[in-house]
Amino acid sequence: MSLAVSRGLNVAVPLLFESSLPGLCGTRSAPHRFDEAAYDGRLGGLHRCDTIGLPELSEPQVMRHFVTLSAKNYCIDTGIYPLGSCSMKYNPRVNEKVARLDGLANIHPNQPEGTVQGILQIMYELGEALKAITGMADITLTPAAGAHGELTGLMAIKKALSEREERGRNIIIVPESAHGTNPASAVMCGFKVVSVQANKEGTVDMDVFKAILEKYEGKVAGMMLTNPNTLGIFEGEIKNMADLIHEQGGYFYMDGANLNALMGNALVDDFGVDAMHINIHKTFSTPHGGGGPGGGPVVFSELLAPYCPIPKVVKNPDGSYHLMDEADAPDTTLGRVKGFAGQVGLMVRALAYIKAMGAEGLTQASRDAILNANYLQHELTEGGLTAPFEGPNMHEFVLSDHYLKGTSVTTMDMAKGLLDAGHHPPTVYFPLVVSGAMLIEPTESEPLTSLDRFAGDLIGLADKAHGCQDDTCEMKSSPTLTPVRRCDEVGAAKNPVLRWVKPRGVDL
Ligand SMILES: *Cc1c(COP(=O)(O)O)cnc(C)c1O
Repeated sequence: MSLAVSRGLNVAVPLLFESSLPGLCGTRSAPHRFDEAAYDGRLGGLHRCDTIGLPELSEPQVMRHFVTLSAKNYCIDTGIYPLGSCSMKYNPRVNEKVARLDGLANIHPNQPEGTVQGILQIMYELGEALKAITGMADITLTPAAGAHGELTGLMAIKKALSEREERGRNIIIVPESAHGTNPASAVMCGFKVVSVQANKEGTVDMDVFKAILEKYEGKVAGMMLTNPNTLGIFEGEIKNMADLIHEQGGYFYMDGANLNALMGNALVDDFGVDAMHINIHKTFSTPHGGGGPGGGPVVFSELLAPYCPIPKVVKNPDGSYHLMDEADAPDTTLGRVKGFAGQVGLMVRALAYIKAMGAEGLTQASRDAILNANYLQHELTEGGLTAPFEGPNMHEFVLSDHYLKGTSVTTMDMAKGLLDAGHHPPTVYFPLVVSGAMLIEPTESEPLTSLDRFAGDLIGLADKAHGCQDDTCEMKSSPTLTPVRRCDEVGAAKNPVLRWVKPRGVDL
C-alpha cells in the first residue's frame, strides 16, 4: 500500500500519536504528582507508575487534526453517492432539528412513562405510518438495522412453526441474487438455505422455484425475497411465489430494504408478505454509513403478529401512550431483540421525514428515484456502457463489464477513476450474478445536473478504457488525486489495525 502524501490542499493526516511533540500541551494545569502514601493500600499496589503515553500537542494542532479529518468525509452533503442497494439519499436538516429538541435529546429510557408521553407518541405514530405505507397488520420498531430485522422476522417464523409443532421445517429459499445478509440471517437463525437461480430477465426462475418446492415438500419454512431485487428489477411473480409458499405451509419474508421504489406505489400486504424489514436509514432518510446507528423496523401480517417483539407502544383508551413490555405483553411474543426501545433518535428523524413529505411527497420521492435510475441507465448505455438486463428498472440498475472486453481495464479501475473525477463510485462486484457488476442507485436526491455530470465522467472513462491494452495504461494507476492510492481493502477488513503501537526508540 502506498503511504499517504499531501497533494495540493488535500492534506495527509498523521495520527495524533505520530504528531506528538513531548512537552506541548493545550491546557495549563498545576503539576500533579502521584502521592503514593495517600493511596497506599487502596489500589492494592496496582497504581500506574509510568505515564499514560497520551499524545502531546497544542490546541491549534488538535483543532487542525480533527477539522481536516472532518473535511475528508465524502458524504451525501458533498456530492452524488450512487451506492447501489444503500439508498444514500439526502438527510433533510429538519430531521436533525427535531431530533435535537431538548425534550427528545435529553430523555432517559428509564424515565417514568408519564414523563415521556411525547416520545411514546412519536414511536406510536411512526409505527402507524409504516403500517399504512406497507398495509401490514403489526410492527416492531426495535431492530437496529436491516439485517437485525431479517433475523427478527425469521425468529417470528421459527416461533410460529414451533407453535404449530412443525420444527422439522428448516429450509428457507433464497434467490441467488439476494443481499448477502439474507442467507446469513437464515443460517444464524438455524435454517438451511436453498438458493434459486434467476432467469435471463433477472427475476426468480419460476420453474426452478416450483421444482425446489416439490423437492422439499413439507420441509420449507419459508422464502426470503428482495423486491425490487438486487438487480433493480421488480419481481412480478411475487404474489404467486407467496401463494405457493403459503400452500406448502411456509411463511413469506420480503426484504424491504428497497422500499424506496415502492412507497406510495404498492402495498406489500398485497404481495402476500408475512414479515418484512424496513431500513429507515435508507428509505426514510435517517443518516447511515460507518456502521450505524440504523433502524430496521419489521412489519408483520396477521399470521405472524402474535410473535411481534416487545417493547411496543400502545395507545390507551384515554389517549395516553404506554410501552407494553414483559409485564403485560401476550405470551406469544418473541420477547426483546434489542436493549430498551431501540434507536429512538432515528425514529424521531424518520417520522419528521414522513410528516414533512406527506403521502404525496413519499409517492413522488419513489417515482423520482425510479425516474433518476432509468434516466441514468439510459444515458450510460447510450454512451456505450452495457446493462445485462433490458429493464425498465426500479430505483437502481446494474451494469456488466461487457463493454470493457478486449481492454485491460476492470470495473475496479473504472471505480477508482471515478474518484479522480470527484464522484463516490457505485457498488462494485455486487450482485455476484453479473460479471464485473456496477450497481448504481442515484436516489431521488440527485438533480439532473449531477446525473449528467456523473454519466459524462463515467462515459469519458469508458472511452478512455478502449485505449488501454495492458497494465502500463494510466487508468490502472488511478486514483492519483487522493491522499491514499490503491488500498489493500481485503487486508484492511481482515487484519484491521486498531491500536497504535509506539515504534521502538520513539520517546513519548
Ligand atoms: C441494506 C440492505 C440490507 C441490510 O440492511 P442493513 O441495515 O445494512 O443491515 C438487506 N437487504 C438489502 C436488499 C439491502 O439493500
